[in-house]
Amino acid sequence: MMQEPNPKQVPAYVPELARTAFTLTISQMYDGRVYDDFPGRCQHCGSGNCVKNGHDDPLFAKLISPKGNFVDVRVLLQKYICRDCGGTYTSQGPFYKGAMYGGPIVDIALSLAMEHPAYAAERMLTNFGIQVSTDAILDYVRLFAERAKQLAPLVPAQGDGLYAINMLKILFGVDNARELNEKLPSQVSLESLTDETYPRKKGAVKKIMDEILEGKKRVVHRGTKGDMVVNGDDGKTSFPESFTLALSYLLGADAYASLICTSGSFNQMLADTLFKALEGTSFNMTDGSFNYSQVKDHVLDPVHKTRNELKHDKKFQEMREEVKEAKEAKPEEKEKARGIVEEKLNEVKKYARARYQEVLGSTLEELRKGHPEYFDKDGDFDGHVTSNCAEGGNWRLKYAVRVAHQRTDTAAGKSILAAIKDSVFTVRGVKVRESLANMMGLFSFGMVMG
Ligand SMILES: [Zn+2]
Repeated sequence: MMQEPNPKQVPAYVPELARTAFTLTISQMYDGRVYDDFPGRCQHCGSGNCVKNGHDDPLFAKLISPKGNFVDVRVLLQKYICRDCGGTYTSQGPFYKGAMYGGPIVDIALSLAMEHPAYAAERMLTNFGIQVSTDAILDYVRLFAERAKQLAPLVPAQGDGLYAINMLKILFGVDNARELNEKLPSQVSLESLTDETYPRKKGAVKKIMDEILEGKKRVVHRGTKGDMVVNGDDGKTSFPESFTLALSYLLGADAYASLICTSGSFNQMLADTLFKALEGTSFNMTDGSFNYSQVKDHVLDPVHKTRNELKHDKKFQEMREEVKEAKEAKPEEKEKARGIVEEKLNEVKKYARARYQEVLGSTLEELRKGHPEYFDKDGDFDGHVTSNCAEGGNWRLKYAVRVAHQRTDTAAGKSILAAIKDSVFTVRGVKVRESLANMMGLFSFGMVMG
Protein backbone atom coordinates (compact mmCIF):
# COMPACT_ATOMS: atom_id res chain seq x y z
CA MET A 1 0.00 0.00 0.00
CA MET A 2 1.27 3.45 -0.87
CA GLN A 3 2.12 5.58 2.14
CA GLU A 4 0.04 8.74 2.36
CA PRO A 5 2.26 11.77 1.62
CA ASN A 6 2.62 14.60 4.15
CA PRO A 7 -0.28 17.08 3.99
CA LYS A 8 0.18 20.00 1.65
CA GLN A 9 -1.49 23.33 1.11
CA VAL A 10 -1.72 25.46 -1.98
CA PRO A 11 -0.06 28.80 -1.04
CA ALA A 12 -2.53 31.63 -0.43
CA TYR A 13 -1.14 33.84 -3.24
CA VAL A 14 -2.05 31.35 -5.99
CA PRO A 15 -5.00 32.79 -7.96
CA GLU A 16 -8.23 30.86 -7.52
CA LEU A 17 -8.49 30.10 -11.24
CA ALA A 18 -5.05 28.45 -11.25
CA ARG A 19 -5.75 26.33 -8.20
CA THR A 20 -9.18 25.17 -9.37
CA ALA A 21 -8.83 24.90 -13.16
CA PHE A 22 -6.74 21.73 -13.08
CA THR A 23 -8.45 20.02 -10.16
CA LEU A 24 -11.96 20.64 -11.52
CA THR A 25 -11.05 19.43 -14.99
CA ILE A 26 -9.25 16.36 -13.69
CA SER A 27 -12.12 15.29 -11.45
CA GLN A 28 -14.74 15.92 -14.14
CA MET A 29 -12.79 14.17 -16.87
CA TYR A 30 -11.46 11.19 -14.96
CA ASP A 31 -13.13 10.51 -11.60
CA GLY A 32 -15.01 7.21 -11.89
CA ARG A 33 -14.54 7.02 -15.66
CA VAL A 34 -14.68 3.47 -17.00
CA TYR A 35 -11.96 2.26 -19.38
CA ASP A 36 -12.72 -0.79 -21.47
CA ASP A 37 -10.23 -1.86 -24.13
CA PHE A 38 -11.02 -5.57 -24.24
CA PRO A 39 -9.92 -6.88 -27.68
CA GLY A 40 -13.02 -9.13 -28.00
CA ARG A 41 -11.27 -12.47 -27.56
CA CYS A 42 -9.52 -14.22 -24.72
CA GLN A 43 -5.77 -13.49 -24.73
CA HIS A 44 -5.03 -17.02 -23.49
CA CYS A 45 -7.20 -19.38 -25.56
CA GLY A 46 -8.75 -17.17 -28.23
CA SER A 47 -12.31 -17.89 -27.14
CA GLY A 48 -14.99 -15.25 -27.67
CA ASN A 49 -16.94 -16.59 -24.73
CA CYS A 50 -15.83 -13.90 -22.21
CA VAL A 51 -17.86 -11.85 -19.76
CA LYS A 52 -17.37 -8.69 -17.73
CA ASN A 53 -15.96 -9.40 -14.31
CA GLY A 54 -15.88 -6.24 -12.18
CA HIS A 55 -13.34 -3.40 -12.12
CA ASP A 56 -9.94 -2.42 -10.82
CA ASP A 57 -9.90 1.15 -9.49
CA PRO A 58 -6.31 2.43 -9.60
CA LEU A 59 -5.33 5.89 -8.38
CA PHE A 60 -5.27 8.34 -11.30
CA ALA A 61 -4.38 11.52 -9.40
CA LYS A 62 -4.12 12.92 -5.90
CA LEU A 63 -5.61 16.41 -5.66
CA ILE A 64 -5.07 18.98 -2.92
CA SER A 65 -8.38 20.31 -1.63
CA PRO A 66 -8.83 23.98 -0.59
CA LYS A 67 -8.68 22.80 3.04
CA GLY A 68 -5.35 21.09 2.49
CA ASN A 69 -6.39 17.45 2.54
CA PHE A 70 -5.94 15.00 -0.32
CA VAL A 71 -8.72 13.88 -2.60
CA ASP A 72 -8.11 10.70 -4.59
CA VAL A 73 -9.27 10.52 -8.19
CA ARG A 74 -9.74 6.93 -9.33
CA VAL A 75 -10.64 5.48 -12.71
CA LEU A 76 -12.31 2.12 -13.32
CA LEU A 77 -10.58 -0.51 -15.45
CA GLN A 78 -13.04 -3.06 -16.82
CA LYS A 79 -12.05 -6.66 -16.16
CA TYR A 80 -13.12 -9.77 -18.10
CA ILE A 81 -13.09 -13.50 -17.45
CA CYS A 82 -13.05 -16.27 -20.05
CA ARG A 83 -15.79 -18.87 -19.59
CA ASP A 84 -13.78 -21.51 -21.43
CA CYS A 85 -10.31 -21.33 -19.83
CA GLY A 86 -10.87 -19.05 -16.84
CA GLY A 87 -8.23 -16.57 -18.09
CA THR A 88 -8.69 -12.93 -17.08
CA TYR A 89 -8.15 -9.59 -18.77
CA THR A 90 -7.80 -6.12 -17.21
CA SER A 91 -8.08 -2.96 -19.33
CA GLN A 92 -4.89 -0.88 -19.43
CA GLY A 93 -6.60 2.51 -19.16
CA PRO A 94 -4.72 5.85 -19.20
CA PHE A 95 -1.56 4.51 -17.52
CA TYR A 96 2.09 4.02 -18.43
CA LYS A 97 3.62 0.78 -17.20
CA GLY A 98 5.73 1.34 -14.11
CA ALA A 99 4.55 4.91 -13.38
CA MET A 100 2.46 5.94 -10.39
CA TYR A 101 -0.60 8.13 -11.29
CA GLY A 102 -2.30 8.46 -14.66
CA GLY A 103 -0.45 9.11 -17.93
CA PRO A 104 -1.78 12.68 -18.33
CA ILE A 105 -0.42 13.54 -14.85
CA VAL A 106 2.95 12.01 -15.77
CA ASP A 107 2.95 14.04 -19.01
CA ILE A 108 2.42 17.30 -17.09
CA ALA A 109 5.20 16.40 -14.65
CA LEU A 110 7.60 15.55 -17.51
CA SER A 111 6.79 18.75 -19.39
CA LEU A 112 7.64 20.74 -16.26
CA ALA A 113 10.79 18.65 -15.66
CA MET A 114 11.91 19.57 -19.19
CA GLU A 115 13.02 22.97 -18.00
CA HIS A 116 12.85 22.87 -14.21
CA PRO A 117 14.53 20.84 -11.48
CA ALA A 118 12.23 18.18 -9.99
CA TYR A 119 11.65 20.07 -6.74
CA ALA A 120 10.51 23.15 -8.69
CA ALA A 121 8.19 20.98 -10.80
CA GLU A 122 6.68 19.57 -7.59
CA ARG A 123 6.05 23.10 -6.32
CA MET A 124 4.35 24.17 -9.55
CA LEU A 125 2.11 21.10 -9.48
CA THR A 126 1.20 21.96 -5.86
CA ASN A 127 0.10 25.41 -7.04
CA PHE A 128 -2.22 23.70 -9.50
CA GLY A 129 -3.60 21.55 -6.68
CA ILE A 130 -1.93 18.34 -7.87
CA GLN A 131 0.14 16.16 -5.55
CA VAL A 132 3.27 14.62 -7.14
CA SER A 133 6.43 14.22 -5.07
CA THR A 134 9.94 15.18 -6.21
CA ASP A 135 10.87 11.48 -6.00
CA ALA A 136 7.98 10.50 -8.26
CA ILE A 137 9.02 13.15 -10.80
CA LEU A 138 12.62 11.84 -10.80
CA ASP A 139 11.20 8.32 -11.29
CA TYR A 140 9.31 9.54 -14.38
CA VAL A 141 12.48 11.19 -15.73
CA ARG A 142 14.40 7.91 -15.33
CA LEU A 143 11.56 5.90 -16.86
CA PHE A 144 11.59 8.33 -19.79
CA ALA A 145 15.32 7.66 -20.31
CA GLU A 146 14.72 3.87 -20.29
CA ARG A 147 11.80 4.06 -22.72
CA ALA A 148 13.73 6.42 -25.04
CA LYS A 149 16.51 3.85 -25.08
CA GLN A 150 14.03 1.10 -26.00
CA LEU A 151 12.32 3.19 -28.69
CA ALA A 152 15.36 4.86 -30.26
CA PRO A 153 18.67 3.15 -29.47
CA LEU A 154 21.71 4.21 -31.53
CA VAL A 155 23.14 0.73 -30.94
CA PRO A 156 21.37 -2.36 -29.55
CA ALA A 157 21.91 -3.89 -26.10
CA GLN A 158 23.17 -0.89 -24.17
CA GLY A 159 24.06 -1.65 -20.57
CA ASP A 160 22.87 0.33 -17.56
CA GLY A 161 25.71 2.84 -17.78
CA LEU A 162 25.12 3.90 -21.38
CA TYR A 163 22.31 5.94 -22.93
CA ALA A 164 22.94 6.31 -26.67
CA ILE A 165 19.78 7.81 -28.13
CA ASN A 166 18.77 8.47 -31.73
CA MET A 167 17.07 11.85 -31.37
CA LEU A 168 16.03 11.89 -35.05
CA LYS A 169 13.90 8.82 -34.35
CA ILE A 170 12.19 10.53 -31.41
CA LEU A 171 11.72 13.87 -33.17
CA PHE A 172 11.04 12.80 -36.76
CA GLY A 173 10.52 9.03 -36.74
CA VAL A 174 13.54 8.40 -38.99
CA ASP A 175 16.77 6.47 -38.47
CA ASN A 176 19.22 8.95 -39.94
CA ALA A 177 19.72 12.27 -41.71
CA ARG A 178 19.24 10.73 -45.16
CA GLU A 179 15.78 9.42 -44.27
CA LEU A 180 14.88 12.78 -42.79
CA ASN A 181 15.80 14.53 -46.01
CA GLU A 182 13.73 12.07 -48.07
CA LYS A 183 10.72 12.66 -45.83
CA LEU A 184 10.79 16.43 -46.16
CA PRO A 185 8.97 18.28 -48.95
CA SER A 186 11.99 20.52 -49.53
CA GLN A 187 15.52 19.37 -48.89
CA VAL A 188 17.31 20.75 -45.87
CA SER A 189 20.98 21.42 -45.61
CA LEU A 190 22.55 18.41 -43.97
CA GLU A 191 25.51 19.69 -42.04
CA SER A 192 26.13 18.42 -38.57
CA LEU A 193 28.00 19.61 -35.54
CA THR A 194 29.20 17.49 -32.67
CA ASP A 195 30.44 18.43 -29.26
CA GLU A 196 30.90 16.93 -25.85
CA THR A 197 30.27 18.40 -22.46
CA TYR A 198 31.01 17.03 -19.01
CA PRO A 199 28.31 17.87 -16.46
CA ARG A 200 29.58 17.35 -12.93
CA LYS A 201 28.15 14.61 -10.76
CA LYS A 202 26.30 15.68 -7.67
CA GLY A 203 28.72 16.14 -4.76
CA ALA A 204 31.80 15.83 -7.00
CA VAL A 205 33.36 19.14 -5.97
CA LYS A 206 32.76 18.51 -2.28
CA LYS A 207 34.37 15.09 -2.64
CA ILE A 208 37.54 16.65 -4.09
CA MET A 209 37.61 19.31 -1.35
CA ASP A 210 37.37 16.57 1.28
CA GLU A 211 40.19 14.64 -0.37
CA ILE A 212 42.39 17.75 -0.33
CA LEU A 213 41.67 18.22 3.38
CA GLU A 214 42.51 14.56 4.00
CA GLY A 215 45.81 14.97 2.12
CA LYS A 216 44.90 12.48 -0.62
CA LYS A 217 45.01 15.25 -3.22
CA ARG A 218 46.83 18.57 -3.40
CA VAL A 219 46.71 21.82 -5.33
CA VAL A 220 49.71 22.70 -7.52
CA HIS A 221 50.50 25.64 -9.78
CA ARG A 222 51.30 24.64 -13.36
CA GLY A 223 52.51 27.48 -15.60
CA THR A 224 49.85 29.03 -17.82
CA LYS A 225 47.31 26.38 -16.83
CA GLY A 226 47.07 27.94 -13.38
CA ASP A 227 46.17 26.03 -10.22
CA MET A 228 45.08 22.44 -10.54
CA VAL A 229 44.31 19.50 -8.31
CA VAL A 230 46.58 16.44 -8.53
CA ASN A 231 46.63 13.05 -6.81
CA GLY A 232 48.88 12.89 -3.75
CA ASP A 233 50.48 9.58 -4.76
CA ASP A 234 51.09 9.68 -8.55
CA GLY A 235 50.81 13.45 -9.15
CA LYS A 236 48.29 12.93 -11.97
CA THR A 237 45.73 15.65 -12.67
CA SER A 238 42.43 15.03 -10.93
CA PHE A 239 39.09 16.29 -12.21
CA PRO A 240 35.73 16.27 -10.42
CA GLU A 241 33.65 13.19 -11.28
CA SER A 242 31.41 13.95 -14.23
CA PHE A 243 29.18 12.45 -16.89
CA THR A 244 30.07 12.47 -20.56
CA LEU A 245 27.30 14.09 -22.57
CA ALA A 246 28.04 13.92 -26.30
CA LEU A 247 25.69 15.46 -28.83
CA SER A 248 25.30 15.85 -32.54
CA TYR A 249 23.17 18.59 -34.04
CA LEU A 250 21.70 18.98 -37.53
CA LEU A 251 21.96 22.65 -38.41
CA GLY A 252 19.43 22.71 -41.25
CA ALA A 253 16.82 20.94 -39.11
CA ASP A 254 17.44 22.97 -35.93
CA ALA A 255 17.42 19.67 -34.09
CA TYR A 256 19.63 17.35 -32.09
CA ALA A 257 20.35 14.19 -34.07
CA SER A 258 21.98 11.97 -31.45
CA LEU A 259 22.81 12.01 -27.76
CA ILE A 260 25.07 9.91 -25.58
CA CYS A 261 25.06 10.10 -21.80
CA THR A 262 27.40 7.86 -19.83
CA SER A 263 29.44 7.89 -16.66
CA GLY A 264 32.39 6.55 -18.66
CA SER A 265 34.78 8.70 -20.67
CA PHE A 266 34.43 9.61 -24.32
CA ASN A 267 36.17 7.34 -26.81
CA GLN A 268 36.32 6.45 -30.47
CA MET A 269 33.60 3.81 -30.20
CA LEU A 270 31.21 6.38 -28.71
CA ALA A 271 32.19 8.89 -31.39
CA ASP A 272 31.26 6.29 -34.05
CA THR A 273 28.01 5.53 -32.21
CA LEU A 274 27.12 9.22 -32.13
CA PHE A 275 27.52 9.30 -35.91
CA LYS A 276 25.01 6.48 -36.54
CA ALA A 277 22.22 9.05 -36.88
CA LEU A 278 24.34 11.25 -39.14
CA GLU A 279 24.42 8.94 -42.14
CA GLY A 280 23.55 10.98 -45.20
CA THR A 281 25.01 14.25 -43.97
CA SER A 282 27.23 16.16 -46.38
CA PHE A 283 29.85 17.16 -43.89
CA ASN A 284 30.28 17.03 -40.18
CA MET A 285 31.96 19.60 -38.08
CA THR A 286 33.69 18.08 -35.07
CA ASP A 287 35.73 19.47 -32.25
CA GLY A 288 39.43 18.74 -31.90
CA SER A 289 38.94 15.33 -30.25
CA PHE A 290 41.04 12.63 -31.97
CA ASN A 291 38.10 10.26 -31.39
CA TYR A 292 36.53 11.65 -34.57
CA SER A 293 39.54 10.86 -36.77
CA GLN A 294 37.77 7.81 -38.29
CA VAL A 295 34.57 9.66 -39.09
CA LYS A 296 34.19 10.35 -42.79
CA ASP A 297 33.55 13.82 -44.17
CA HIS A 298 34.50 15.50 -40.95
CA VAL A 299 35.71 19.05 -40.90
CA LEU A 300 37.29 20.48 -37.80
CA ASP A 301 35.29 23.37 -36.44
CA PRO A 302 37.41 26.55 -36.80
CA VAL A 303 36.94 27.65 -33.20
CA HIS A 304 38.22 24.39 -31.76
CA LYS A 305 40.91 24.19 -34.41
CA THR A 306 42.18 27.67 -33.59
CA ARG A 307 42.14 26.87 -29.90
CA ASN A 308 44.15 23.68 -30.49
CA GLU A 309 46.66 25.45 -32.69
CA LEU A 310 47.14 28.28 -30.21
CA LYS A 311 47.93 25.73 -27.52
CA HIS A 312 51.02 24.75 -29.51
CA ASP A 313 51.78 28.26 -30.80
CA LYS A 314 55.07 29.41 -29.29
CA LYS A 315 54.57 33.11 -29.96
CA PHE A 316 51.07 33.03 -28.44
CA GLN A 317 52.31 31.25 -25.33
CA GLU A 318 55.13 33.81 -24.92
CA MET A 319 52.63 36.64 -25.15
CA ARG A 320 50.46 34.97 -22.49
CA GLU A 321 53.52 34.62 -20.24
CA GLU A 322 54.25 38.36 -20.64
CA VAL A 323 50.71 39.23 -19.58
CA LYS A 324 51.13 37.06 -16.51
CA GLU A 325 54.46 38.66 -15.58
CA ALA A 326 53.00 42.13 -15.97
CA LYS A 327 50.11 41.12 -13.71
CA GLU A 328 52.53 40.01 -11.01
CA ALA A 329 54.19 43.45 -10.73
CA LYS A 330 55.31 44.78 -7.33
CA PRO A 331 52.75 46.93 -5.46
CA GLU A 332 54.70 50.19 -6.03
CA GLU A 333 54.68 49.57 -9.80
CA LYS A 334 50.99 48.56 -9.93
CA GLU A 335 49.79 51.77 -11.57
CA LYS A 336 52.28 51.55 -14.41
CA ALA A 337 51.75 47.78 -14.78
CA ARG A 338 48.01 48.16 -15.25
CA GLY A 339 48.51 50.01 -18.53
CA ILE A 340 51.03 47.43 -19.70
CA VAL A 341 48.70 44.52 -18.90
CA GLU A 342 45.90 46.10 -20.88
CA GLU A 343 48.16 46.79 -23.84
CA LYS A 344 49.55 43.25 -23.84
CA LEU A 345 46.10 41.68 -23.46
CA ASN A 346 44.97 43.60 -26.53
CA GLU A 347 47.96 42.25 -28.45
CA VAL A 348 47.08 38.69 -27.40
CA LYS A 349 43.46 39.14 -28.48
CA LYS A 350 44.47 40.66 -31.80
CA TYR A 351 46.86 37.79 -32.44
CA ALA A 352 44.23 35.12 -31.59
CA ARG A 353 41.65 36.82 -33.79
CA ALA A 354 44.07 36.92 -36.71
CA ARG A 355 44.82 33.22 -36.27
CA TYR A 356 41.09 32.44 -36.20
CA GLN A 357 40.57 34.32 -39.47
CA GLU A 358 43.40 32.28 -41.02
CA VAL A 359 41.89 29.00 -39.82
CA LEU A 360 38.41 30.04 -40.95
CA GLY A 361 39.85 30.91 -44.35
CA SER A 362 41.56 27.56 -44.76
CA THR A 363 38.45 25.69 -43.50
CA LEU A 364 36.36 27.47 -46.13
CA GLU A 365 38.93 26.59 -48.82
CA GLU A 366 38.77 22.95 -47.75
CA LEU A 367 34.96 23.06 -47.98
CA ARG A 368 35.00 24.83 -51.36
CA LYS A 369 36.97 21.91 -52.78
CA GLY A 370 34.94 19.14 -51.15
CA HIS A 371 31.47 20.69 -51.16
CA PRO A 372 31.07 23.30 -53.90
CA GLU A 373 27.27 22.99 -53.46
CA TYR A 374 27.52 25.10 -50.32
CA PHE A 375 28.81 28.12 -52.20
CA ASP A 376 26.59 30.56 -54.06
CA LYS A 377 27.23 32.03 -57.51
CA ASP A 378 29.38 34.81 -56.05
CA GLY A 379 31.54 32.21 -54.34
CA ASP A 380 30.23 33.07 -50.87
CA PHE A 381 29.65 30.33 -48.34
CA ASP A 382 25.99 29.50 -47.93
CA GLY A 383 26.24 27.10 -45.00
CA HIS A 384 26.52 27.44 -41.29
CA VAL A 385 30.23 27.60 -40.46
CA THR A 386 29.61 30.36 -38.02
CA SER A 387 31.56 29.79 -34.88
CA ASN A 388 30.15 28.04 -31.86
CA CYS A 389 26.71 27.01 -33.10
CA ALA A 390 27.08 23.68 -31.39
CA GLU A 391 28.68 25.15 -28.34
CA GLY A 392 25.78 27.56 -28.09
CA GLY A 393 23.42 24.60 -28.25
CA ASN A 394 25.34 22.67 -25.65
CA TRP A 395 25.45 25.68 -23.44
CA ARG A 396 21.65 25.87 -23.55
CA LEU A 397 21.54 22.18 -22.67
CA LYS A 398 23.93 22.58 -19.75
CA TYR A 399 21.65 25.27 -18.42
CA ALA A 400 18.67 22.97 -18.71
CA VAL A 401 20.42 20.17 -16.78
CA ARG A 402 21.91 22.63 -14.30
CA VAL A 403 21.07 20.63 -11.18
CA ALA A 404 23.81 18.05 -10.72
CA HIS A 405 22.73 14.42 -10.60
CA GLN A 406 24.29 11.35 -9.08
CA ARG A 407 22.72 8.68 -11.26
CA THR A 408 23.40 8.22 -14.96
CA ASP A 409 19.74 7.44 -15.74
CA THR A 410 18.61 10.72 -14.13
CA ALA A 411 21.25 12.74 -15.99
CA ALA A 412 20.32 10.93 -19.23
CA GLY A 413 16.58 11.55 -18.80
CA LYS A 414 17.09 15.25 -18.06
CA SER A 415 19.45 15.60 -21.03
CA ILE A 416 17.09 13.86 -23.48
CA LEU A 417 14.18 16.03 -22.28
CA ALA A 418 16.32 19.15 -22.65
CA ALA A 419 17.41 18.15 -26.17
CA ILE A 420 13.76 17.63 -27.17
CA LYS A 421 12.75 20.98 -25.73
CA ASP A 422 15.61 22.65 -27.60
CA SER A 423 14.55 21.03 -30.90
CA VAL A 424 10.76 21.44 -30.67
CA PHE A 425 10.25 25.18 -30.48
CA THR A 426 8.02 27.98 -31.71
CA VAL A 427 10.14 30.89 -30.54
CA ARG A 428 13.90 31.24 -30.84
CA GLY A 429 15.54 34.09 -28.98
CA VAL A 430 12.91 36.82 -29.15
CA LYS A 431 11.67 35.92 -32.64
CA VAL A 432 8.64 33.84 -33.48
CA ARG A 433 10.07 30.92 -35.48
CA GLU A 434 8.72 27.39 -35.69
CA SER A 435 11.21 24.55 -35.77
CA LEU A 436 10.94 21.65 -38.19
CA ALA A 437 10.31 19.19 -35.34
CA ASN A 438 7.39 21.33 -34.15
CA MET A 439 5.91 21.50 -37.66
CA MET A 440 6.16 17.72 -38.03
CA GLY A 441 4.44 17.43 -34.65
CA LEU A 442 5.53 13.83 -34.10
CA PHE A 443 6.87 13.99 -30.57
CA SER A 444 4.64 13.42 -27.58
CA PHE A 445 5.49 12.09 -24.13
CA GLY A 446 3.07 9.23 -24.71
CA MET A 447 4.91 8.18 -27.86
CA VAL A 448 8.04 7.54 -25.79
CA MET A 449 6.40 6.40 -22.53
CA GLY A 450 3.55 4.32 -23.91
ZN1 LIG B 1 -9.72 -18.26 -22.53
